[in-house]
Amino acid sequence: MDFNELLTAEKEYLIELRREFHKNPEKSWHEYQTSRRIKEELDKIGVKYQSFAGTGVVAVIEGAEEGKTVALRADMDALELDEETELSFKSENEGLMHACGHDGHTAMLLTAARALVKVKDKLSGKIKLIFQPAEEMVAGAKEMVKEGALEDVEAVLGIHLWSGLKTGIINVEAGPRMASGDYVMIDFIGAGGHGSLPQQTVDPIAAASAFVMESQAVMSRESSPLDPVVFTIGKIDSGSRFNIIPSQAALEGTLRCFSEESRTAASEAIKRFAKKTASAYRAEAEVEIKEGTPPTVNDPQIVEYAQRAARQIVGDENLVSMQKTTGSEDMAYYLREVPGCMAFVGAGFEDQSKNFPHHHPEFNLNEESLLIGASLYFNFALNFLNND
Ligand SMILES: [Zn+2]
Ligand SMILES: [Zn+2]
Repeated sequence: MDFNELLTAEKEYLIELRREFHKNPEKSWHEYQTSRRIKEELDKIGVKYQSFAGTGVVAVIEGAEEGKTVALRADMDALELDEETELSFKSENEGLMHACGHDGHTAMLLTAARALVKVKDKLSGKIKLIFQPAEEMVAGAKEMVKEGALEDVEAVLGIHLWSGLKTGIINVEAGPRMASGDYVMIDFIGAGGHGSLPQQTVDPIAAASAFVMESQAVMSRESSPLDPVVFTIGKIDSGSRFNIIPSQAALEGTLRCFSEESRTAASEAIKRFAKKTASAYRAEAEVEIKEGTPPTVNDPQIVEYAQRAARQIVGDENLVSMQKTTGSEDMAYYLREVPGCMAFVGAGFEDQSKNFPHHHPEFNLNEESLLIGASLYFNFALNFLNND
């Protein structure tokens, strides 16, 4: 591992800060104390900042000369979950836990800021530090963008510590990395009646059932197997009694896609197929698709800067390829506005029994990953600003 000495000197600070955030998790949009602590740490190093989207913070480190503007993003929120670890710095806020690693992200970005301030006289351009609330609701980034957090920004890097990758490994690659996540609601409307007299009714359960089964065939026939689409119905709500045909059946589901093209096509197919299926059963369908986060798509040119930064830290052999995931990440909102990338920094333990998936009550990070993440922010910013 090849760390800049400015960062190595901050290792203790970084781990302590991460533990402090871990002890004091706050839920999405309520990151008050986290926000205050970020500001205190920025004050200590003389970095100016502004509040964004409530608890969000955007700070700027100015180089000595004019130049490009690069943004580094960390998310700040925790999850509504009871922590079940035995850590000495276990959550002190009941019902809340940093179970995704955002405590690490915030501490990494503050640590990178301390090192960047020390080299700012040799820098051309500006570094924007984006501390973002409410990632877990995939809502914070959208607000940050709306309030102008990306103004003048030419490239953006987001990092996620990843328990599924061993510590010492980094993944950052071009193209779609995480899926969009849209919320689908469909009401099948029929006409209720006695269960013994179906001919006098329009049965919405029969129509909804046909839709649930056949929509899977529609997805598979209308989307490219190389640009996968996931459509899952997670909730069916209908009926009150075994011998009554109800008048309505409500379905709720999630749609996951890796490109805007497949997202638009799949949304249209769902609407069309719900309505046509309903009418085939003499029923009607009302479809609402609430747009969630877009697909997270990494820009190939910015990925090159990030890969160079990663190689400098972990070496070529530890920069790996990783399958994209059907989870969603609101980093996507930044990437839709400016070229950038999302990097995954391995945070797994050598001892497999200590590794738990993100959002698990026993989730923990290997703290050796923190300095790697902070270094990636630091090296990426330097590479981008210093190379035309
Ligand atoms: Zn999460
Ligand atoms: Zn997360």
